Amino acid sequence: MKKIAVTTAGGDAPGMNACLRAVVRSAIYYGLEVVGFEEGYGGLIEEKKKRMDLRSVSGIISWGGTILRTKRCPEMKTRKGIEKAARVLKRNRIDGLITIGGDGSFRGGIELYRASRIPVVAIPASIDNDIAGTEDTIGFDTAVNTALDSIQKIRDTAFSHERIFIIEVMGRERGFIALAVGLACGAEIILVPEIRYNLSKISRELEKGKKTGKKSSIIVMAEGAGAAYAIAHHIRDVTGYEVRVSVVGYIQRGGSPTARSVNLANLFGHQAVKTLLRTKSAKMVGWEKGEVVVQPLDYVTRQRKEIDRNLYRLAHILAI
Ligand code: ADP
Repeated sequence: MKKIAVTTAGGDAPGMNACLRAVVRSAIYYGLEVVGFEEGYGGLIEEKKKRMDLRSVSGIISWGGTILRTKRCPEMKTRKGIEKAARVLKRNRIDGLITIGGDGSFRGGIELYRASRIPVVAIPASIDNDIAGTEDTIGFDTAVNTALDSIQKIRDTAFSHERIFIIEVMGRERGFIALAVGLACGAEIILVPEIRYNLSKISRELEKGKKTGKKSSIIVMAEGAGAAYAIAHHIRDVTGYEVRVSVVGYIQRGGSPTARSVNLANLFGHQAVKTLLRTKSAKMVGWEKGEVVVQPLDYVTRQRKEIDRNLYRLAHILAI
């Protein structure tokens, strides 16, 4: 192993830059040459590359986004696209690829490994934390803290005006962010796509809270858990309370990574390089039970990670 490539594909996540720095510096430390492919698999297919030396990653540890940029690349989902990408790796004498991203990027990584037999190590970076085989992903903690910050500001208004606030956080298909944020802000209700809910029951719970002295209530919902404004109307019609909706939105994707996101990036980046030095197949680095682990990539992409229903129940108990 002499020369490796790195790319960031899929949605950006805070901590990707710290991860690039960790990959580049670790690789050089172990005597490898590093090439960065810009704009994910699209840039790989088009051979948009740059040599990554020690100073190419200076000063980026606390930046959000990714200096290699990222782009969705539908061509990579076709046989032709994968073969083109495999040819680019071979032509550039790449001995191993590190792909930083989410589930989609990992599927691309597996296909690329199958077509080229060049080892691939995937690093989970996703604000959604929806990747199996790892309890945490780069960027998740930052997104949760960003949303938490906004909610704490909204709480002030909710309390002062005795209002109910529905706060929509990211998560089109999965409720990991909503659950972590809801539990951390002491939300009265958490709505996630994975768990069915009953609006009449929720309205009764809100009424009960008011009767027992609550001055405000916060409902944290994942964007994929329903239509926030329709839910607000329903609750207002049933209870007569003032209900407001606030969408936290794209600010959850950006900003400086938290210490947790950066340190996960540092650990994952270094482990990915070490793994690449000894593997001949496709792997993913992950975080389980307090340590860095290495998993087979095809196994990970075939699994579905479930939300922790105990946390959901705990949030419910603590909000009475
Ligand atoms: P994420 O990596 O954050 O989950 P995407 O799902 O958009 O983001 O995937 C990133 C990129 O990975 C896609 O633009 C595409 O190039 C590639 N990709 C996604 N799914 C596949 C697949 N099934 N086969 C090959 N490449 C894929």
